[in-house]
Amino acid sequence: MNPFQYQRAGSAAEAVALVAQDPAATFIAGGTSEVDLLKEGVHQPSRLVDLAGLPPGTIAPLNGGLRLGASVSNSAAALHPEIRQRYTAVSEALLAGASTQIRNMATMAGNPLQRTRCPYFRDSGQPCNKRTPGSGCAALGGLNRVHAIFGASSSCVATQPSDLAVALAALDAQVQTTGPGGSRTIAFPDLHRLPGDTPHRDTVLEHGELITAIDLPAFTGRSHYLKVRERASYAYALVSCAVALEMDGTRIRRARIALGGVAHKPWRVPAAEALLAGRKPTEKLFLAAAERAFADAKPLEHNGYKVPMGRSLLLRALLETSGLQPLAGPAGTAFAASVGGVAGLVSSPR
Ligand SMILES: Cc1cc2nc3c(=O)[nH]c(=O)nc-3n(C[C@H](O)[C@H](O)[C@H](O)COP(=O)(O)OP(=O)(O)OC[C@H]3O[C@@H](n4cnc5c(N)ncnc54)[C@H](O)[C@@H]3O)c2cc1C
Ligand code: SF4
Repeated sequence: MNPFQYQRAGSAAEAVALVAQDPAATFIAGGTSEVDLLKEGVHQPSRLVDLAGLPPGTIAPLNGGLRLGASVSNSAAALHPEIRQRYTAVSEALLAGASTQIRNMATMAGNPLQRTRCPYFRDSGQPCNKRTPGSGCAALGGLNRVHAIFGASSSCVATQPSDLAVALAALDAQVQTTGPGGSRTIAFPDLHRLPGDTPHRDTVLEHGELITAIDLPAFTGRSHYLKVRERASYAYALVSCAVALEMDGTRIRRARIALGGVAHKPWRVPAAEALLAGRKPTEKLFLAAAERAFADAKPLEHNGYKVPMGRSLLLRALLETSGLQPLAGPAGTAFAASVGGVAGLVSSPR
């Protein structure tokens, strides 16, 4: 581990100032992701500005929705009664990630900002444009089984690993920030960037810009998060999806779908969402939407399996969220009930 300065900020303004004045400084919140990168020598900041001294975050009502402070722990958010009931996908996504111990430390801002799990990024001996701009991309011609099928570039094919980010993208959450240039609101689906030729920049946040809260807008529909991973726990998504449906009687008024494990950011699929609007839920319609959602996928050499797996997962999530074919158990257990055998539970789109 390289030497670095450590400072604990007492306010958001102090945290912003401490990072903004030093181009190689960074924030640390729960530290569950950042400390690994320090130990592996992947990230070598000159200064760590600890956010643990800021006032503790709260979960509070806001305009019919909820405002979640940036430092609220992943456990507190996952188990909050209103989040479980009204924003089920958020609770399920959080509970599908990491372990209880990590979720107790991890924060609402730190989770979506965790960096890619591309194995080459974490191996300092390999070329990686995200870690060392201009050095190349070992995954392009290497083992790219866990990499992107949407929105990748010739500079980087990494995926964004956060489960929470997928649920927040589907629910049109908003990110509140404060930075050297003042405060602003960012629509969650716009927070993460596609790699293009600058994959070292994961998000649109400026250096020193601090997330202060995440807002969940008013939502009266149903939502679910489903994830396929290699083990039943403690593993990142190979493919995941969050579905949010608002009904108008027996018809779908509005559908929102975000896919995870497939791109450099949570991947919204507007064409599939549009296919569902105004229609009555049927398995045939959901098959068509799942087909549409993955129609533009561009698999790499080793990750073609993500396309049929993702289609089946999305179909399962739509059947679950609409109530057409619910999985066993109360809300919040759909993930647990489906993990492992999810692709075989319903007829496959292809
Ligand atoms: C073994 C293991 C398994 C895991 N499995 C999963 C999984 O299956 N799914 C999943 O989603 N996650 C998983 N995680 C990741 C875990 O959820 C993240 O490490 C955690 O959510 C990060 O939160 P943190 O508060 O500890 O962030 P930190 O590690 O402190 O910071 C992460 C990043 O966010 C930045 N940051 C933090 N707070 C702010 C802020 N307020 N404003 C601006 N920038 C900020 C930091 O500078 C840093 O770049 C796993 C982690 C481990 C170690
Ligand atoms: S896919 Fe991105 S993160 Fe992985 S090696 Fe290539 S440049 Fe690095």
